[in-house]
Amino acid sequence: MDLLTALVDKGLRRELPTRDEALAVLATPDDELLDVVAAAGRVRRRWFGRRVKLNYLVNLKSGLCPEDCSYCSQRLGSQADILKYTWLKPDEAAKAAGAGVAGGAKRVCLVASGRGPTDRDVDRVSRTIEAIKDQNEDVEVCACLGLLSGGQAERLRAAGADAYNHNLNTSENTYGDITTTHTYADRVDTVHRAQAAGLSACSGLIAGMGETDEDLVDVVFGLRELDPDSVPVNFLIPFEGTPLAKEWNLTPQRCLRILAMVRFVCPDVEVRLAGGREVHLRTMQPLALHLANSIFLGDYLTSEGQAGQADLDMIADAGFEVEGAQTRTLPGHRGADVCGSSGDAGCAAGCGGHEGGACGSHEPAVSVPAAQPVPAEEAAPGVRTDLVAVRRRGAGTDLPPNA
Ligand code: SF4
Repeated sequence: MDLLTALVDKGLRRELPTRDEALAVLATPDDELLDVVAAAGRVRRRWFGRRVKLNYLVNLKSGLCPEDCSYCSQRLGSQADILKYTWLKPDEAAKAAGAGVAGGAKRVCLVASGRGPTDRDVDRVSRTIEAIKDQNEDVEVCACLGLLSGGQAERLRAAGADAYNHNLNTSENTYGDITTTHTYADRVDTVHRAQAAGLSACSGLIAGMGETDEDLVDVVFGLRELDPDSVPVNFLIPFEGTPLAKEWNLTPQRCLRILAMVRFVCPDVEVRLAGGREVHLRTMQPLALHLANSIFLGDYLTSEGQAGQADLDMIADAGFEVEGAQTRTLPGHRGADVCGSSGDAGCAAGCGGHEGGACGSHEPAVSVPAAQPVPAEEAAPGVRTDLVAVRRRGAGTDLPPNA
C-alpha cells in the first residue's frame, strides 16, 4: 500500500500514523503536492465536511511582555513597532468581539500576553466574558492568558469561558532554544489544568522557526498525546525587531505539507490555519482549506490579516461554507460540545501563539498611522516583509476593526 493510501485509511479510522509516515509527508516532492492535499482533504471532509469555522481574535492587552519567546513581537526587549496598550475594558472588548461575530465568527479568542494572569486579571477577564456573552448569547469564548495557576481555570470556566488556548509551539527538545523564561513542561501543565477544569483545550504549534522535520513531527505527536480539541497551526511571521526576524524559510508548498501532516496525525481535531496564513501561503490559501477546517477572520494580535470580506469570498470561491453558530464543530465521538456546538477549542495566536499576546504594559491605548510595509524589491528572495503589516486598527485604537 502506498503512503497516501495508508494515511487516508488511518485518518478515516482515527488511527495514529507512524513517525516515519509523518516524516514522509513532509518530504514529498512538489510534483506530488496535490496528491498529498487531496489525500488529507479526504480525511478533513470525513470529519468536518466542507465547513470552515471562523474565529476572531481580541487582543486584550498588547506589548511589553516579561517573557522572552523569540518568535513574539511582544516579548521582553522586542523592538517591533507594535501597538502597546493595557487591558481593554469589558465593554471595549465586547464591542470588538461583536464586530467579529457580526462578520461570521462563532468563537471569540480573548488574548493577553504575559507569563500568566494574576487573580485580579482573572476577575477582569471574567467580567469581559460575561459582557461578551450578554451581547452574543451563542458565541464561544476562548481565553488565552498564559500559564495558569491553581483554581484559575475553574474560575474562567465558571465565568462562562468555553475553551483555553495554550500552544506547545515547538518540540520539547528545541523549546529551550526558543524560550528560556518558561518550559515545555510548564505549557503541558497549563493545558492539563484547562482540561481538568472542563475547558475545551486548544493547543498548537508554530512552524518556520528553524526547526527540523523531526521537531515538527515531535510537537504534533506531543499534541496528539495531549488530545486538545483544536490545534492552531501558525507559520512564523518574522517580525523586524525580534530574534527570529531573519527566519524566512517557509514556502506555500512547505506550509501545505505541514498542514497535511497535522491533519493525518490529528484527523478528527479542529485544525486551525492561524497566524502567517497570508504571509506564507499567499495565493495558495484556498488549497489550505482542504486541510484545515478553521481559520481566523480578519486581523491577528499584532499584525493585520487580509480583509474579513476577502476571507469570506475565499471560502465561498473554494467551495466551502462558513460553519453556523448552531452547528457542532467536532465529530460526535469527541464528547460534549461547547455552547451546544461541539467540544472544540479556542484561540490560536495569543500568548504562546506566535505573534504574541501582550503583557504587563501600562501604556494607554493609542492610535497611530497606517503601517508602512517594506517594499518587496528591497528584500532578498523568499523574504516577504512587504506582506507583514503591523496592526494599526481595531482593539486598542480608535479605528474600526477588520472583521
Ligand atoms: S508569546 Fe506570550 S509569553 Fe511569550 S513573549 Fe509573547 S506575549 Fe509573552
